[in-house]
Amino acid sequence: MTIIAALAREPHSNFQFQQVSLAELRPDEILVEIRGVGICHTDIAARDGIYGLPYPIVLGHEGSGVVTTVGAGVTTVAPGDHVVVSFNSCGRCTSCTSGNPAYCRDFAVENYIGTRPDGSRALESEAGPVYSHFFGQSSFATHAVVNQRNVVAVDADLKLAQLGPLGCGLQTGAGAVMRSMRCHAGSSLIILGAGPVGLAAVMAARIQGCSPILVVEPHEARRTMATDMGATHTIDPTADGDLAEGVRRIVPGGVDYVFDTTGRVDVIRSAIAAVGCNAVLGLVGVPSDFPSTFR
Ligand SMILES: [Zn+2]
Ligand SMILES: [Zn+2]
Repeated sequence: MTIIAALAREPHSNFQFQQVSLAELRPDEILVEIRGVGICHTDIAARDGIYGLPYPIVLGHEGSGVVTTVGAGVTTVAPGDHVVVSFNSCGRCTSCTSGNPAYCRDFAVENYIGTRPDGSRALESEAGPVYSHFFGQSSFATHAVVNQRNVVAVDADLKLAQLGPLGCGLQTGAGAVMRSMRCHAGSSLIILGAGPVGLAAVMAARIQGCSPILVVEPHEARRTMATDMGATHTIDPTADGDLAEGVRRIVPGGVDYVFDTTGRVDVIRSAIAAVGCNAVLGLVGVPSDFPSTFR
């Protein structure tokens, strides 16, 4: 069948909509008609060549949509189901079989090589190969070929077009607070950055019963959103002086948890000066100079 996809052709260029042909589904695959997709910073980094992916490629990894067709071996969803699509995983390694697919030993091969893990592609254009299977989905398109391991069925009465970011940014922020760091009720937390990942962490911290919940964010509109979503205090790092002093005025003994979404080493270092005893630091932003960052 023919679909329309937004192709990335070279670093720092605009995405280009184009018709591409889609191969037959395999038995374990699912065709999803995409209804909404978030744009994550990882999509932009991939477009700009950070991951060394081949071009032209269809990116997109926060898709949501409706299942239209399933392969003969698919048992978890059926045509008509509303689904959110997330990262893929192998299902066989020790991480996958112990309930931690986000740490799949084959995560790169399953998500970052521009093809299925076996090197095959699902997309083709008149000009030649089109690379796909980004995060097991490539959802910057009218349709995406996904696997039953990376779709989650959702209630049909939810606003489907808005649900895609649950598959990456929102689960990253909420998962860090609720699962990886397991912030406990009554604990204090600083969240660095109030983009979607940080705001998801705010909502999760409120659910966990954390207090106070401090958010460090330079943009006023985002600080306002953070407050609306449950932050008890917000700090403007461009205007409110030394971060650690500001935090310690609110939590004199230092905070129990720091969650960084900025990937900025200067911000992370200043927050470390605000932690208390036995504190936990969670990092999800990737600093641009990562190898030398924490020497
Ligand atoms: Zn992402
Ligand atoms: Zn695995």
